[in-house]
Amino acid sequence: MKALLVRLDHLEHNFKTLQALAHVKIIAVLKGNGYGLGLVEMAFFYQQHGVTTVAVASLAEAMLLRDNHYEHQILLLSSTCLAEEVEAILKYNITATIGSLEALSELNAQAKALDITAIAHVKLDSGFGRYGFLPTAMQTLASAITAAENVQMQGVFSHFSNACNDNPASVQRQLTCFLQCIDELEQLGVDVGIRHIANSSAFLKFPNTHLDAVRIGSAFLGRLTFATPDLHRIGSLVSKVSEMKTLPVGHNVGYADIFQTRRPTKIAILPFGYIDGLGLERSRDAFKLKEAIRYIAREIKQIFRKPMVVEIAGQTAPIIGRIGMCHTIVDVSHIQANVGDPVSVRVNPLMVDGCLKRIYKAGE
Ligand SMILES: *Cc1c(COP(=O)(O)O)cnc(C)c1O
Repeated sequence: MKALLVRLDHLEHNFKTLQALAHVKIIAVLKGNGYGLGLVEMAFFYQQHGVTTVAVASLAEAMLLRDNHYEHQILLLSSTCLAEEVEAILKYNITATIGSLEALSELNAQAKALDITAIAHVKLDSGFGRYGFLPTAMQTLASAITAAENVQMQGVFSHFSNACNDNPASVQRQLTCFLQCIDELEQLGVDVGIRHIANSSAFLKFPNTHLDAVRIGSAFLGRLTFATPDLHRIGSLVSKVSEMKTLPVGHNVGYADIFQTRRPTKIAILPFGYIDGLGLERSRDAFKLKEAIRYIAREIKQIFRKPMVVEIAGQTAPIIGRIGMCHTIVDVSHIQANVGDPVSVRVNPLMVDGCLKRIYKAGE
């Protein structure tokens, strides 16, 4: 028995806290299986709280929502010019992102053939270097939008590359670029609709980025790279102690022989491991020496940090030895613990295997 516990009361607290700061439309971002909390369940949670637009990163997620009878607006954040994907976008009534002339002409052609009007948001590349039109392309874009009679532009958006780090200059540079592009489009006669650029970090740190809508994902989980005291961190793995025993002094614990008992040690074996997201940090690419050094420094700090603890029947016990794929061992010499006792440990839901059962609970 093991599951990812999602505390709905905590999620609700986070939602209301963030909603109070947003004086504009909230687009709830649900990529990555709803940040690990469950795509469909989260879409309906946000629906219950008045959100009428959700955003996903892949067409498969958008289709899954429709297959599960989600009827509000779904914005697909990725631009596509693949004919079969555009076909599904129209069939499933998904709001497309237009990031290239090819994507626009494919969407317009297919909508025209069906004699319908497709709804889309246009994506501008204000500095990320991924989807979207470059600032130099505004004239071409304006003509293409005007000519595309079967596509209605409902909004325009862009994405920050560095809002989560402390880099206000980068955020302001992208914001200025985005607003200048919009000015130019408007002067060329384009009605751009709603303007949105803020993700969670920008939303919390730079209120001038809110514009007409904000796209929030990780903040709802209270999981950001900076401290957010008002938000609960969502996500814990819950299970039960599956076995217990006592090891003699000097005995190895776990893979790689990195831990030896210093005294007779009562251990509890827990039936979860890194497949369930435990002890997993996102691995990062370090392209610059500065970053590589920063990551090494963090690893070194990690060594001197207190061991990770799990909670067993309301008491804490340190993890000893290396976390296995499906098993974790804790030292329970100092506490009252029994086979079958409830265990819980914090994990980032995004790292938890999608197959693991999610339990949604209103409270303790
Ligand atoms: C992931 C994503 C978001 C939400 O980012 P958070 O930092 O999790 O709030 C917003 N916009 C786009 C385009 C994204 O890919």
